[in-house]
Amino acid sequence: MKCTRCHERAEINLRSHHTAFCRSCFILYFQRQIDRTITKEKMFTPHERILVAVSGGKDSLALWDVLIAQGYHTEGLYLDLGIGPYSAQSREKAERFARTHTVPLQVVTLAEEAVSVPTAAQFTHRVPCAACGTMKRHFFDQAAIEGGFDVLATGHNLDDEAARLLGNALHWQTEYLAREKPVLTPTHPRFVRKVRPLYRLSELETAVYAFFRGIDYVIEECPNSVGATQLFYKDILNRIEAKMPGTKLTFVQEFLRSAQPLFVAPDGSPPRECEVCGMPAFAAVCSFCSLLREVERKQDNAERKQAAAGVWQEEPQNRRTGEGGREFPDSPIPDLKR
Ligand code: SF4
Ligand SMILES: [Zn+2]
Ligand SMILES: [Zn+2]
Repeated sequence: MKCTRCHERAEINLRSHHTAFCRSCFILYFQRQIDRTITKEKMFTPHERILVAVSGGKDSLALWDVLIAQGYHTEGLYLDLGIGPYSAQSREKAERFARTHTVPLQVVTLAEEAVSVPTAAQFTHRVPCAACGTMKRHFFDQAAIEGGFDVLATGHNLDDEAARLLGNALHWQTEYLAREKPVLTPTHPRFVRKVRPLYRLSELETAVYAFFRGIDYVIEECPNSVGATQLFYKDILNRIEAKMPGTKLTFVQEFLRSAQPLFVAPDGSPPRECEVCGMPAFAAVCSFCSLLREVERKQDNAERKQAAAGVWQEEPQNRRTGEGGREFPDSPIPDLKR
């Protein structure tokens, strides 16, 4: 098979686009797709400062790589979620990328700044992803506004968007459908614009780009994603795509063109600021600070019960990480379908 652009030997066949590319033409195609998306959707300009949320995975690192190559002013933000070897590996990949490209990377360690995801899940009896989502939103929003950034860019790809759309459409989540856009304008002065420049590029395309560019990324998925409903939707969409190439892209693009404008988002502006952290909130205390308070309260109760029962610990326990002591085993992998 020949490259559609230069007629050299093709290394990737994109059935959804009826096209094939050699390595260098694919890299060009991928970068141009992002460039066009940024321009068409008015995501940001070359004069704006972009905070890129990086996870150490292929999508966010591929996105950051393209933005650096195109000369945008970027800085990375990595959240260390404290999820065992997965977090250790993904942090190492994000830090190595930043070192190799000599670009700034902020690292926020949840166990130091707040509480690790496993500890939060354990004490609140919620699935880890619920606690994780609350903390990610808080630290991304806070870092963006306090760092003076204009935009927060995330690495959501076409497969993520299609799976989310399928899930929201199956349950007619009209409020979510109304907000399902590649550019979210801020609903509070302490929020910045949020953009998803990869929303038209598939997971396969980002993986191939990362491979062709020699990007070293964490291949393992977060252990808490096992059984996630979104993975089930992705699997269904992949089966449809295998029979009818291009379906995922049409599904998302046509939704955005014809259906999305019909959904009206209720006013989602947080009416106040959290009295603890100062970030936008719907109540006196934001959901992030409520989560921390709940964890602290339950940790205190657990310690009191332990003391009353005369249980001694060999080592003092770190209240935030749950490390040290014997009382806090790792939380089990949750069934996210429940
Ligand atoms: S799978 Fe859940 S816990 Fe893991 S990174 Fe994603 S949201 Fe967080
Ligand atoms: Zn070529
Ligand atoms: Zn708060």
